Amino acid sequence: MRNDCFALPPGVNWTPVDDALADLRSRLSAVTQVETLHVADAFGRCLAAPVLARRAHPPLPNTAVDGYGFAGGRGQGTHALPLVTDVAAAGAAPDVIVPDGHAIRILTGAALPLGVDTVLLQEEADVTDGTLRFDGPVKAGANTRKAGEDVTEGQVVAEAGRRLTAADLGLLTATGVAEVAVRAPLRVAILSTGDELVPAGQVAAPGQIYDANGPMLRAQITALGHRVVHQGHVADDRAALRAALDAASEVADVILTSGGASAGDEDHVSALLQDTQSMALWRIAIKPGRPLALGVWNGAPVFGLPGNPVAALVCTLVFAAPALSLLAGGRWFAPHGFDLPAAFTKRKKPGRREFLRARVRDGRVEAFASEGSGRISGLSWAEGLVELPDGALDVAPGDPVRFIPWAGFAG
Ligand code: AMP
Ligand code: MG
Repeated sequence: MRNDCFALPPGVNWTPVDDALADLRSRLSAVTQVETLHVADAFGRCLAAPVLARRAHPPLPNTAVDGYGFAGGRGQGTHALPLVTDVAAAGAAPDVIVPDGHAIRILTGAALPLGVDTVLLQEEADVTDGTLRFDGPVKAGANTRKAGEDVTEGQVVAEAGRRLTAADLGLLTATGVAEVAVRAPLRVAILSTGDELVPAGQVAAPGQIYDANGPMLRAQITALGHRVVHQGHVADDRAALRAALDAASEVADVILTSGGASAGDEDHVSALLQDTQSMALWRIAIKPGRPLALGVWNGAPVFGLPGNPVAALVCTLVFAAPALSLLAGGRWFAPHGFDLPAAFTKRKKPGRREFLRARVRDGRVEAFASEGSGRISGLSWAEGLVELPDGALDVAPGDPVRFIPWAGFAG
């Protein structure tokens, strides 16, 4: 990364959320290597190039049901067609010829034999003495699938940047794709900063608190499809933090820190990034959140998240998730939310975008009772966030609000 890639124009110090997002989007690009993988091993990887179907799906016209095949539709009344002795089964080449006025036993998935374009459901058939009898009408083409009706050969089945889902692996395989060019996973380092922090499992002195951000951010980054390759805890000590950033930048493509991101005496993350001239502090008009220190350390972008766990997770979801997606070779994305009636009352002042811990019950959005940003229990209670716009707003019960489920922040 260029050292000045996050630098804001001089004089700008209070950044609306949308401007911060637009800046991130314009300044970041893929940093991961391209490799070729077998499709079965490519789950969760970002495609480095679009994938084209090597084969139509289905490749040949076939039957969607078990039944009897013949040519053309049939009108009202009872019909009788002699059966040929062959059976058309899935997997067999369609080399049987069914003469006009005859029918053939055919099983789901079988390619339509020559002379067959219509299939009668077996439940509607009566077969005695080698003759098929049934009542019309039967529409021409009934119960069949056309070649390429799902996907045509050469069609783009997955765009570059797409993170492959389970269903994508099915689609790619069905369309004859065996290997894909994908990006290596984005390697992420996570550093928790603060003299007061103790890792889980150790005894905490009265003045100490547990490092909640470490495990939480690790899980969130993993859920976003990235690889946490390094995790640590650093005291509020500039030399120690410098060493920790050095170590992290050796093994990771991007570094997330939490804590020490403001402009206070013990805010060493922002101070160190400032020293690199790689940028600075973005004071972002967001609640919870606000200080987000962005910079570059030995070529690795650093997201200096706020220490407060609620703010740290909100900033991770709002800013880091789409930014890391770009770095990983994926697409930029806006969170997927939907409007639902509020089950709460809220008076919002202008100036900052606000995210409330929220969940949906009986089709209405409930907000966590306390907006205190130290209330980590509210994060766990919540099933997503409500996004309130930058301007002033009065929300009354029943008013539509934008609810974004946790999964909606994953692109
Ligand atoms: P800071 O951004 O360093 O000023 O921290 C803001 C608040 O978040 C303080 O109350 C910290 O004790 C708390 N905090 C910082 N890091 C963590 C962490 N990793 N886990 C839990 N709380 C934290
Ligand atoms: Mg701190």
